[in-house]
Amino acid sequence: FVHQLADESVGMEELLVSPLRLETKAAFPLPLDLYGAGRANSLGRDLAVVAQRDDLLAAHAVCVVPTVAEARSDEVDAAVDRAIKAFDAWNHAPVAQRAAALRFAGDALEAQLPRFCALLVKEAHKTWSDAVSEVREAVDFLRFYANEAERIQAPQTLPGPTGESNTLRLEGRGAWVCISPWNFPLAIFVGQVAAALATGNTVLAKPAEQTPAVALEAVKLLHAAGIPANALQLLHGPGETVGAALVAQPGVAGVVFTGSTQVAKIIQRALAAKDGPIVPLIAETGGINAMLVDSTALPEQVADAVVQSAFRSAGQRCSALRLLCVHEGIADHVIEMIQGAAKELVVGDTADLATDVGPLIDADAFEGIQREVQRLRAQVKALLPEPAPTAALPTLMPPQMFEIGAVADAKQEIFGPVLQVVRWKGDPLAVLQQINALGYGLTLGIQTRIDNRAQALARAARVGNVYVNRNMIGAVVGVQPFGGEGLSGTGPKAGGPNYLLRFCAEQTLTINT
Ligand code: GLU
Repeated sequence: FVHQLADESVGMEELLVSPLRLETKAAFPLPLDLYGAGRANSLGRDLAVVAQRDDLLAAHAVCVVPTVAEARSDEVDAAVDRAIKAFDAWNHAPVAQRAAALRFAGDALEAQLPRFCALLVKEAHKTWSDAVSEVREAVDFLRFYANEAERIQAPQTLPGPTGESNTLRLEGRGAWVCISPWNFPLAIFVGQVAAALATGNTVLAKPAEQTPAVALEAVKLLHAAGIPANALQLLHGPGETVGAALVAQPGVAGVVFTGSTQVAKIIQRALAAKDGPIVPLIAETGGINAMLVDSTALPEQVADAVVQSAFRSAGQRCSALRLLCVHEGIADHVIEMIQGAAKELVVGDTADLATDVGPLIDADAFEGIQREVQRLRAQVKALLPEPAPTAALPTLMPPQMFEIGAVADAKQEIFGPVLQVVRWKGDPLAVLQQINALGYGLTLGIQTRIDNRAQALARAARVGNVYVNRNMIGAVVGVQPFGGEGLSGTGPKAGGPNYLLRFCAEQTLTINT
């Protein structure tokens, strides 16, 4: 063991190893709704799904996915006009009133969990386990941002000289455009909207064109909970037309976007090109997320974390593991365990409760990923067999794994269940520098039993979320604030104490008394 470590520049003083633990659990009890995604011990055997099996299946049996109409450009103009006009009244309403409406919506959503899960399964091909986690996450966002708005929007009296009163007050900024992705059509949609609304902004929401029905049902629920119709308006259609038209509107006070780095830059350029005020953009994009595994790591834990992080949700999470960097001393063993675990995954229709990996979102996504997979298959070593096409579910893509020669060979994010593996030896900090050099900065996994090595690697990592000795997906609202840096986004972190600040205008009031 010591002989092996000598190669990884570990001094004897560092050999303070962590205890062996196969599962990581919060060290304190959390309310049930704070347990988000990633808590299931095993894909497809989520206890929350098992417990609600009958309700979920009954909801699925009657679930009809509504169709929606694309917004015309005159409708976009009129909606923006209404949102700007509605701003003053909503912004000047007491924060407690806005928070109460969001909490009410949270309770209603929690009560309708099976119905929303069924919709997520049908429209977004979510597995039941992912669907349950996602509804809970949306409920968490509603409650968390309601609480946070009340906290930060309470007027703050600041110390000052005698004869003067100084107060800092946070308010909304105006009409926000919220552009959300198909991979979390409920949680991210609701999170963006709730953050903007809680702080007094009005919202023009443009959900992904692949998942309009989930957004429609969420907006109905929010309106029923007391959010005024003009404070929250929904506009359907493609990003290239409806999204672009919204961003180009002169009166927009801010844009919050989750999606690709490329589109975030298009939005940033469009905002910069407009006359008038400087408009803030909050962008949360993707990543070439790595897991750095040293030779002291526990292979069972690594294999479990890799399967969860790379293949759960068919890899369609921006937090998902893309690049496994494993020390050559344990690489063969770890790869073999992942191969075994990957073969056990049930790949198929997500209507089936047992399914672990469902189809990709659509044919475009499938074709794009398939091109990358074929390139890898032609150029490097495949570590899992080539799957046969499934006629009944043409966008189904079973997990794939390839061994590449160097960290730098992972050139772009592949947004599906495709894992690239690279072996390393020598100094793990040098490997981390190569990971940093990829330019993304969302999630990083570290697997080591050397505590101070984990700390040193985390400090050196240019990423927003570091997960040590566990999976690296499923950030929990209020517990693991989520978001990255560099090519992965602008911050602030969703579900964290600083998120709402970016949605606010700050005013300092100084009165000579
Ligand atoms: N918050 C999610 C997670 O931690 C990922 C969000 C996304 O994919 O955009 O897994």
